[in-house]
Amino acid sequence: MANYEEIFKKVVSHCKEYGFIFQSSEIYDGLAAAYDYGPNGVELKNNIKDYWWKSMVNMHENIVGLDSAIFMHPKTWKASGHIDAFNDPLIDNKDSKKRYRADVLVEDYIAKIEAKITKDCDKAAKRFGEKFNKEEFTSTNGRVVERKKKIDLINKRLNTSLSLGDLKAVKLLIEELEIKCPISGTNNWTDVRQFNLMFKTQVGATTDGATDLYLRPETAQGIFVNFLNIQKTSRMKIPFGIAQVGKAFRNEIVARQFIFRMREFEQMEMQFFVRPGEEIKWYNYWRESRINWHKSLGIDEDKYRFHDHEKLAHYANAATDIEFKFPFGFKELEGIHSRTDFDLKAHQEHSGKKIKYFDPEINDSYVPYVVETSLGLDRMFLTILTNCFIEEQLKNGDTRVVLKIPYILSPIKIAILPLTKKDGMPEKARKIMQELQLKFNCQYEEKDSIGKRYRRHDAIGTPFCITIDHITLEDNTVTLRNRDTMIQERVSLNKMEAIISENLNLAKYLQFKS
Ligand code: ATP
Repeated sequence: MANYEEIFKKVVSHCKEYGFIFQSSEIYDGLAAAYDYGPNGVELKNNIKDYWWKSMVNMHENIVGLDSAIFMHPKTWKASGHIDAFNDPLIDNKDSKKRYRADVLVEDYIAKIEAKITKDCDKAAKRFGEKFNKEEFTSTNGRVVERKKKIDLINKRLNTSLSLGDLKAVKLLIEELEIKCPISGTNNWTDVRQFNLMFKTQVGATTDGATDLYLRPETAQGIFVNFLNIQKTSRMKIPFGIAQVGKAFRNEIVARQFIFRMREFEQMEMQFFVRPGEEIKWYNYWRESRINWHKSLGIDEDKYRFHDHEKLAHYANAATDIEFKFPFGFKELEGIHSRTDFDLKAHQEHSGKKIKYFDPEINDSYVPYVVETSLGLDRMFLTILTNCFIEEQLKNGDTRVVLKIPYILSPIKIAILPLTKKDGMPEKARKIMQELQLKFNCQYEEKDSIGKRYRRHDAIGTPFCITIDHITLEDNTVTLRNRDTMIQERVSLNKMEAIISENLNLAKYLQFKS
């Protein structure tokens, strides 16, 4: 793990050094769990959003977009269940005075047992060589079987206690497992208490007439309350979806791991409305489609896994997480939930307005069921960064830091570099820049040696650098350098544009089965 922690630390400082992410209000010593995206960060973030939007909205005739307000009528949150049930169980260590999520303490304990199983497997794989069969080993090896049994037992106890709201049982579990505070090393715990994660604020000039409002903890409810508006104005027929990208706010108890858990973050959500009884078919469809979307970016497939939920949220009848192997372990990246008709029905009851759909195919009206896909934009950003940050040993003994970001998502696509600042090269380079900048995000740079400039662009993930030199002025050829191979080739300006266009062809990425 130490090695992973080291890499993670490097990624965090790389983000700051190269203008991807800054701590919020840094000059005032920062604000925990809030971050600002710098010039390269905002480009990468926009590109991720755009990639998601294109695949979700533009490529589906039956999915449309929405941008709803962050402030919503307070009854929304009563109806959705957030006022009563959007809680996390918290626990404090009396010696270190540190606060934890009780369920996360138990989950971390389970992760340690899982790590032991992985070690057992690695050892056995070494011993048995090619003959090693992982499935057989994990289902027959006594020690592994015992460990797996223990995990199941702990999971069961945790899930049952949480669904019953039995916080005493959660504390008992923590005590029995002898889970200690990583800071004080003691198990001197307070009782477990529920903590509501919504931020409350007020609207109105005077305190008397003011109304309590909440900052939305998810974008989904903005979609639900607009269901009829959109269905009618866009003449949508079931099954259809509504997609939205926007900010969400949660007063997380323990905000850790950089942008993985923030108090202000962005979600990319799509709610898909279906006929009752067809929700599991569509749930399976979106489960498949979403993992294919992730794979389309070319990230190592072993780094993704599904985690099907045993403990379902109050609104769901099936749920899974797509987990990604971050440097700190496999963690949730995206949630796919079959939310039944819970939300629309609840809004119908609380608003007193009918929310029904007349289905001409079966000549009947009903409250639609919903399948949701919910991806954290910031977690997707972290996925890209932690996966693509590479320290590469070069043949000449040097090392280089390179962000091997999928080309389509790179903040800057082309660096335009005059070899020197004289002899008409900057003028020619700027002319080339003018021709390219509306098609690709380009950056002009003339400071420092060409080698240093290449390294700088490797470090921010620019896939192509073009160098303008004396020969360019004579025959309109440039040196085109590829980030990953570092191969430099002399090409004519026309050919260069064709090569770059081919590599940035969105269709090549988005041709996954969706
Ligand atoms: P977790 O179990 O990690 O708290 P969750 O199950 O509460 O997450 P959902 O309510 O399913 O998360 O939200 C959908 C997605 O929003 C998550 O998969 C995640 O990518 C993102 N997300 C949720 N909370 C945060 C947060 N505090 N910071 C950044 N992203 C978040």
